[in-house]
Amino acid sequence: MSELKYPYAEHPEPGTTVEVAPGIRWLTMPMGGGSLNHINLYLLEDRDGWWIVDTGLPLQSVTELWHDIFARELGGRAVLGVICTHFHPDHIGQSGMISDHFRCPLLMTRGEYYQARAFSNTGPAHHTSWLGEMFYQRAGMPKDYLEDIRRSFAQNASGGMSMPTIPSGFQCLQDGDVLTIGDHDWRVVVGSGHSPEHACLYCGELKILISGDQILPVITSNVSVHPTEPEANPLKSWMESHDKFLSIPDDTFVLPAHNLPFWGVRERLRQLISHHEDRMLAIEEHCVEPAIAKDLLPVLFARKLDSRQMMMALGEAIAHVHLLMHRNRIERTLHEDGVYRFRSIDPDLGRRAHPGMHDAPSDTPVLV
Ligand SMILES: [Zn+2]
Repeated sequence: MSELKYPYAEHPEPGTTVEVAPGIRWLTMPMGGGSLNHINLYLLEDRDGWWIVDTGLPLQSVTELWHDIFARELGGRAVLGVICTHFHPDHIGQSGMISDHFRCPLLMTRGEYYQARAFSNTGPAHHTSWLGEMFYQRAGMPKDYLEDIRRSFAQNASGGMSMPTIPSGFQCLQDGDVLTIGDHDWRVVVGSGHSPEHACLYCGELKILISGDQILPVITSNVSVHPTEPEANPLKSWMESHDKFLSIPDDTFVLPAHNLPFWGVRERLRQLISHHEDRMLAIEEHCVEPAIAKDLLPVLFARKLDSRQMMMALGEAIAHVHLLMHRNRIERTLHEDGVYRFRSIDPDLGRRAHPGMHDAPSDTPVLV
């Protein structure tokens, strides 16, 4: 079994770039004070300019760093287009600024673009609607929890994790599209689960995958059910995406949006698949006695969680339960108190179970 290999020990200094392959430059933007302090962004060199992959949070300090990059790192040439892997604010936050500055297009998948437009126009309205109320009630959360989330979102709005305004138009990327940039062809490979239609870029010639948040080497991307789509099954899409990416050759160099660039894509996919399968098994073992969603949090996360982390953790727990329901291993019933109970129904569970031997539930849910 091979380990992941990291040829770079450190991230580039803010405002600078590092060439990781011919015509491909890596840079890092700060993420503020959260559990994750950086995002990786990439520049792809074309004949008469550059393409940018992902853009950083909508913060003034990030805008200023971009202007340093424009002045010092592009050889006096323009940006020809901005490619965003998915709609999260750390990825699309500066897309409007860059697109306006160079009058260049934004390229995204349709699902990601319209999700971004919807969220930036209306905000996360589930905090105030009956949909949100019912979602958290059914999960067994206390009545004042919605108020906690509302407060935490208001506090975090200034930290750049709110949705930015994005360009009013875009060019649509679809799975299988090929972008020719400089001498190389990049194939768009779409995954799902962390976000609806996440675009990765794969260059077979250079053996490079720009993976966004679809494949990260250290942290596990958040895969959550939210009140906006309470019956969604994002973990099913996530696991299917892992299978799809397993066809990428193992000698591919992966350029992720967080942590460090690495070799070992198939090993990392194996770890991620095992991680989620293990979490699901732990939930099944717990649900031998009927359980509510809130009580699954300690099964997945041992740490004390603040209200926003709890929202992500709860969304993850429900995502795991929904895939188990789809696999006919968990049954869900709505009780008179308005709370769902989950119960394991696979008669074969006793043979598969290995209580006390699961992943240490020490992760913090991450907001990427
Ligand atoms: Zn993300």
